[in-house]
Amino acid sequence: MIESTLNIPIEKTLNSKLPFFDFNNLQFGKNFSDHMFVIDFENGEWKNARIIPYQRFDLSPSSAVIHYGQSVFEGMKAYKNESGEVMLFRPTDNFKRLNKSAIRMCMPEVPEDLFMEGLIKLIQLDSDWIPSKAGQSLYIRPFLFATDEFIGVKPSETYRFAIITSPAGAYYSEPVKVLVETSYTRAVEGGIGYVKAAGNYGRSLYPAKKAQELGYHQLIWTDATEHKYIEESGTMNVLFVINDVLITPPVSTTILAGITRDSVLTLARDWGMKVEERKIKIDEIIDAFEKGTISDAFGTGTAATIAHISHIGYNGSDYLLPEVQTRKFSNKIKEELQKIRLAQAPDKHNWVLKIK
Ligand SMILES: *Cc1c(COP(=O)(O)O)cnc(C)c1O
Repeated sequence: MIESTLNIPIEKTLNSKLPFFDFNNLQFGKNFSDHMFVIDFENGEWKNARIIPYQRFDLSPSSAVIHYGQSVFEGMKAYKNESGEVMLFRPTDNFKRLNKSAIRMCMPEVPEDLFMEGLIKLIQLDSDWIPSKAGQSLYIRPFLFATDEFIGVKPSETYRFAIITSPAGAYYSEPVKVLVETSYTRAVEGGIGYVKAAGNYGRSLYPAKKAQELGYHQLIWTDATEHKYIEESGTMNVLFVINDVLITPPVSTTILAGITRDSVLTLARDWGMKVEERKIKIDEIIDAFEKGTISDAFGTGTAATIAHISHIGYNGSDYLLPEVQTRKFSNKIKEELQKIRLAQAPDKHNWVLKIK
């Protein structure tokens, strides 16, 4: 447990939305809890940390973030179990990744004590916003953006870091149908694909929309050079089970190092499963469909946790995965992760942070 050292002032809302909030009808990312954490960077230092009612930001039309996209974010979740205990899953990894993103985008790093204490105090204050039914959680969105009122292309000198939270249900209700994308790219070597920078997501919308028009939920991205190797699926890492081996592309400058991905690989290795992190050709996946050796395919990410893939579209054909109920590995891992997150299974790797 991290002890309070910073004394972040809290201004409580006088108009809580909680009494009017419908927890039976949760839409991802649409509703926000009563409070947020905010801190500003000015003259080379972080100042004015505060927890205040959720409200609009006052933004100048010349704000650097609007013009050149110095903006990075994180995604994590708080869970509540049946005993009412509140847990965060691997929050320090999100903290580290936020700063990895900040460095790549030429932004100041957020100090660990500020990040952790702002986060914990906010979750404590808004703990009644954490839904506790199966699959539900409080989605947490930390983000950092440039605020200089200046439209020259240069790193901003001022920034704001904030954390907002949003009650969330299950992300995908059904298995996803994905299309292998062979003309557009998400990330290039030397680019920003390995960090959670806003521009990665803006650029992905148009190709994703075109796939949706063809009846797919999302894309499987391929490498920018040859479009032969699998990278990620939408905003998730992608994993396959072929001949009982768990395979996934290695993290690189084009593939984001997902915390869920790492948790899945770690548990699979604990269970003695053979795990391979290596380049995967689309041809290898198609070949496995033809031979009937592919038994599982899924995306991993904080928002979705484990998203089963039902079909893979490639070159005008749809390849069908086995029925979701028959998939031993992804179902087992999904259940185990859920239990660990709710502190209902041993936490061998010290992933869970309980909040008083
Ligand atoms: C956030 C994200 C993931 C998943 O990361 P987690 O830490 O598991 O939530 C995977 N790919 C991309 C591109 C992402 O932005």
